Amino acid sequence: MNQIRLGKTEICVNRNGFGALPIQRIPKEEAVRLVRKAYDHGIRFFDTAYTYTDSEEKLGEALAGIRDQVFIATKTPAENSEDFWKHLEESLRRLGTDYVDLYQFHNPSFCPKPGDGTGLYEAMAEAKDRGMVRHIGITNHRLSVAREAVDSGLYETLQFPFSYLAGEPDLELVERCRKQDMGFIAMKALSGGLITSARAAYAFMVPFSHVLPIWGIQRERELDEFLECDRLVPEMDQELKAVIEHDRAELAGEFCRGCGYCMPCPVGIEINNCARMSLMIRRSPSDAHLTGEAREKMKKIEDCLHCGQCSAKCPYGLDTPALLEKNYEDYREILAGKPL
Ligand code: SF4
Ligand code: SF4
Repeated sequence: MNQIRLGKTEICVNRNGFGALPIQRIPKEEAVRLVRKAYDHGIRFFDTAYTYTDSEEKLGEALAGIRDQVFIATKTPAENSEDFWKHLEESLRRLGTDYVDLYQFHNPSFCPKPGDGTGLYEAMAEAKDRGMVRHIGITNHRLSVAREAVDSGLYETLQFPFSYLAGEPDLELVERCRKQDMGFIAMKALSGGLITSARAAYAFMVPFSHVLPIWGIQRERELDEFLECDRLVPEMDQELKAVIEHDRAELAGEFCRGCGYCMPCPVGIEINNCARMSLMIRRSPSDAHLTGEAREKMKKIEDCLHCGQCSAKCPYGLDTPALLEKNYEDYREILAGKPL
């Protein structure tokens, strides 16, 4: 059965969730066309966020007239109830709707709970009572917060990085959600662009009937690949196993998964991208990693205090500061003309 059930939300959709972060980067008309094509070919779950600039607005325009046929998930980075209401009202306005199917706390540094003093969970519960929010979820990059959210019983879904490069702690988290009847939304299912085989990524997800991958889609070609997987579900055959084994081997050891468990960094280094730049720049289109903004982010590595906070939190036991140095050295050589 190629449908997933998102835990107790009872949301049932096919295994192609549409991750709407990348549509920020394309013109509105192109984004609207892409989203409509996704809908026309059976995609029903769309995930965006208050912070993804114009992504909500683009989704709203694309889904106008078919609102009741789709599930819209969005997120708030609010740290207090005042911002919570401001974000929710703004998101509803941009999306052109009076409710969202799933509203998620966006990667909070702690697990919001009733009575914690922030008023966040109380506001979320009230929004649900008022019908502005159908289901309550949370997204996170930190294993400890994610585990706490699952164990709290307060959330219907967890959104967390998950791909075929996942380690034991991630698999355990997925299983924990299944036992609690929580939906698991897999972000970074292509590991932020490091995984290039859509078929292998999709086939890996098939055994998990409560896991909905939201593929970050920006190009029609990428959409087509996932639509094809839905039409003809790829089997985990020898060929795909070999792709996965090859990637796991190539990305083993000193490979940063981009999970962000080690963040924030006191000097603001974007560790989850900078510590794996050498891989990203070779495995995904390099232009995006060579912009002025990307260079600035890499240059921040020079400010590293070698405080060790990041390596102490890395569940993969990486020497993160050394990895950052190594990636920065390679990056400077690339900027100086080293061929990719
Ligand atoms: S060691 Fe460097 S990169 Fe890691 S947390 Fe400290 S300052 Fe940030
Ligand atoms: S250094 Fe470790 S904790 Fe930080 S993003 Fe990479 S894999 Fe995750």
